[in-house]
Amino acid sequence: MIHSPAAVDRVLTAVESAADEIVDFTAALIRIPTVNPPGEFYADCARLIGTRLASCGFEIEYHAAEGRPEHTVAHPRLNVIGTRRGRNARPTVHLNGHFDVVPAGAGWSVDPFGGVVRDGKIYGRGSCDMKAGIAAAVYAAEAIRRADIALGGSVEISGTVDEESGGFAGVAWLAQARRLTADRIDHVIIPEPLNVDRICIGHRGVYWFEIETHGRIGHGSMPFLGVNAIEHMGVLIDRMRRDLLPAMASRTTGMPVVPDAARHATLNINGISGGQPVDGIQTPCVADSCRAVFDRRFLIEEGFDATKAEIETLLDSVAAQTPQLRYALRDLMTVHPVRTPDNSPVVGALSAGIEQVLGRKAAQVASPGTYDHKHFDRIAGIRDCVAYGPGILDLAHQPDEWCGVDDLVNATKVLALSILELAGT
Ligand SMILES: [Zn+2]
Repeated sequence: MIHSPAAVDRVLTAVESAADEIVDFTAALIRIPTVNPPGEFYADCARLIGTRLASCGFEIEYHAAEGRPEHTVAHPRLNVIGTRRGRNARPTVHLNGHFDVVPAGAGWSVDPFGGVVRDGKIYGRGSCDMKAGIAAAVYAAEAIRRADIALGGSVEISGTVDEESGGFAGVAWLAQARRLTADRIDHVIIPEPLNVDRICIGHRGVYWFEIETHGRIGHGSMPFLGVNAIEHMGVLIDRMRRDLLPAMASRTTGMPVVPDAARHATLNINGISGGQPVDGIQTPCVADSCRAVFDRRFLIEEGFDATKAEIETLLDSVAAQTPQLRYALRDLMTVHPVRTPDNSPVVGALSAGIEQVLGRKAAQVASPGTYDHKHFDRIAGIRDCVAYGPGILDLAHQPDEWCGVDDLVNATKVLALSILELAGT
């Protein structure tokens, strides 16, 4: 630790003094309904973040995701990055927030895009996931400037698109374009809402696949003359339940995934369709095709190859035991698990900050789902990456989503102290 206790006090005081501004900025971000899909008002939101960063002494770059199919005239995919250099270019601490939000959905008691602040809570779609996190990042850096502290290294803050739909025109695109890379960035904090005293050190893997069973059409009054693809899908799913699920449930990851039940591998059937559409006119036919999409979440200890091989082995064995069962397996999407290395500087800095600001020990968690960490790790090659930010994880994507003002201010303090620690003074 090279900064003085007096410097720390000045930074914490600067955050306190900026509390109303942080809340107002969060509310202003919520009032831009950046709903994804389809990706509304991204350019407005990127510019609002860019303008605020510029007023906080950052140099601003805008990056449209040229070449991505979802980057259209109607719905441009515009990302923004601000850089504030310290005495030296490195180390660089990068804070990244996605500014897209999921649709509001039903059940709200307040305007989901009104930016309502009431009883110490900021309400709105995206309040906790994760516009409060973006505001916290901006004002963490700003508090250091207002405290008149010159940083040794640089701070970067980015606002990116499409995290909710995979991040391919956002963090993944910027990493592929070599703008986000280990060649220029040392530490990454993603202020996603994971509870203000928890640091998220990674996530499980994802394997989405489709199985199609091929039958043979026949007259519905003589099903014995055809082969019913839906029945065969039923056989496959039954064997998954009886053989695959117990094997998966017997494995537990060493990663601190929350909730506890997600420490095992899981399998969800996303959708199924076979034979004639059920809301159309029916004719008597044996279903000659059935397709289903599966979402297998795998553990870092399992790895992708073994996960896929286990499914292939099961399918082969069912096919060998079931006359006329023919199937095809198709990969749809793979996300490899990520885990921040032990002794990570960013975990150390955030843990110290949480202890200083909240007076309790930080917990480390891992996410059951994925977020942009995967792109920083796998494409940008930046291993020292975590998620930490204000807001309660369970409120994300819910009606009446909110972020507590206390959480927001405390997370801003923790982020500010962590930037101080990581960039040095
Ligand atoms: Zn999020």
